[in-house]
Amino acid sequence: MERCIFCMVARGDLEATKVYENDDVVAFDDIAPQAPVHTLIVPKTHYDSMSSDLPLTTMAALFEAVPHVAKIKGLEKSGYRVIVNNGMDANQTVQHLHVHVLGGKRMSHGMVNFEE
Ligand code: AMP
Ligand code: ZN
Repeated sequence: MERCIFCMVARGDLEATKVYENDDVVAFDDIAPQAPVHTLIVPKTHYDSMSSDLPLTTMAALFEAVPHVAKIKGLEKSGYRVIVNNGMDANQTVQHLHVHVLGGKRMSHGMVNFEE
């Protein structure tokens, strides 16, 4: 997708702080981090979001990258949270499937915050 920002990052047309890359995915730091470590992993092929059409290979590639990113970011021992915001109710703001890896500070138990 020509004008998709995460496709642009994947192509190297938009600057990002890359953390990890292989043939299938690229990981880069979130531009507005919500934790001391906040890295995004995106497939190099554009998919809007998770769906039953998503190839298992893409799903596998995304999640296979998670421990690599965690290790590079020094989160292996301390732990981390993995989030995928999928669609409107989850407030997905960039319509290119991505996995958030968050860590570097102890988090609360709550996983969801609802709008008023
Ligand atoms: P989501 O709300 O799950 O769609 O998350 C989108 C994330 O992308 C947000 O955390 C944004 O801060 C992040 N983001 C948007 N533009 C960029 C960019 N150019 N580089 C890195 N992260 C970005
Ligand atoms: Zn895209």
